[in-house]
Amino acid sequence: MSVNMKDSLEKVDSEITGAIKNEHTRLNEGVELIPSENVVSKAVLQAMGSILTNKYSEGYPGKRYYGGNEFIDVVENLAIDRAKKLFGAEHVNVQPNSGSPANQAVFFALMNLGDTFMGFDLTAGGHLTHGSPVNFSGKQYNCVPYNVDKETELLDYDQIKKDALKAKPKMIISGLTAYPREIDFKAFQEVCDAVGAYHMADIAHIAGLCATNVHQNPVPVCDVVTTTTHKTLRGPRSGMIMCKTEDRFDKEGKRNLAQKIDFAVFPGLSGGPHEHTIAGKAVAFLEDLQPEYKTYCQQIVKNAKALADSLMDQGIELVTGGTDNHLMVAKLVNKGLTGKGKEVQNALDEAGITVNKNTIPYEPGSPFNPSGIRLGTPAVTSRGFKESEMKVIGESIAKVIDNLNDKTVIEGVKKDILELCKQYPLYDDFQILG
Ligand SMILES: *Cc1c(COP(=O)(O)O)cnc(C)c1O
Repeated sequence: MSVNMKDSLEKVDSEITGAIKNEHTRLNEGVELIPSENVVSKAVLQAMGSILTNKYSEGYPGKRYYGGNEFIDVVENLAIDRAKKLFGAEHVNVQPNSGSPANQAVFFALMNLGDTFMGFDLTAGGHLTHGSPVNFSGKQYNCVPYNVDKETELLDYDQIKKDALKAKPKMIISGLTAYPREIDFKAFQEVCDAVGAYHMADIAHIAGLCATNVHQNPVPVCDVVTTTTHKTLRGPRSGMIMCKTEDRFDKEGKRNLAQKIDFAVFPGLSGGPHEHTIAGKAVAFLEDLQPEYKTYCQQIVKNAKALADSLMDQGIELVTGGTDNHLMVAKLVNKGLTGKGKEVQNALDEAGITVNKNTIPYEPGSPFNPSGIRLGTPAVTSRGFKESEMKVIGESIAKVIDNLNDKTVIEGVKKDILELCKQYPLYDDFQILG
């Protein structure tokens, strides 16, 4: 093969082209219920696939270590200004490459190695970066986890406060990956105030709902808020940090809070920012500022409630008995499937329904063989599904759970799902290869 810089991907690399086309078919012919996933617009895809990938721009707008950044500065400033408007943020850093590096930057900015912090227990709904023993957050810092109440499966803010008064953390992380109820960021802030801790909210999952006030927005409340940009925000796979300018606990310091965060991102943890992705974020934020986006976020929650109702009508129990946000966790214990989340995930996969196995609070199985599955509605809502489709999907899921080893039933569900998906093609007029 001779390399010609002007040849298309299709011509240059049939293997990668084939995998992309297959992934497109998989997306088109199945129902995507993983709550952390979504589908981006054609405009976002184009920005991400642009020539902006060519440029080095270490530093920040107006203060770069490389020449030729006048148009890159336009891109990054637009992303920052739109994010500020979307969330009402004082300061925004759009350079983190994903949610985990954004969280790492906050730890790096505000804590010393070995310092104590509190994060949401992973099995009850927290994230790896909130103190899991296998993650940098749990290895390099001292994590005292908080958990949900065993009976209600809800966060108990009085208990968290008691735990915090004992642990004296330097920082408390509020935020979720698998908690189906609204988080009371103000209650967390009261705990932080009572113990003199920084409050970091991680809204990776719910950012879109927060930006549109479908869920409490923590940005006016907390010291620092981190997020991914590819979940409900429906932008490129990336991250972002928002914060107050002033550092409440270090008013005379060399750097204020905003400067500490920026300094931790660059030069603390990374070199050149990915400006093609930052352009994708800017485009997504512009889309998110439009009235249709608020309607979309409201529909995410309506769809989640409809799916939850449908599942419960079929005798499937949900953690906390329902949902207020975009996700729910189904408990398989009463179906005799304790520790069988993986088997259920695989059977649903065969039927064209993508979910992920998940632990339930006080998991009776193990993290590898958990007793729940997690489901969410951001991706199917982007696709145009409404409450009536959610009802059908809930019934289909229940059918698979009740007939896990019956290939005929699973084949039947797969056919129903394919029919449903055909009515809502994804990227229908799309040139997925540019
Ligand atoms: C998804 C998620 C992250 C991590 O994001 P990545 O982009 O996968 O690194 C961090 N925190 C929470 C709460 C998340 O849900």
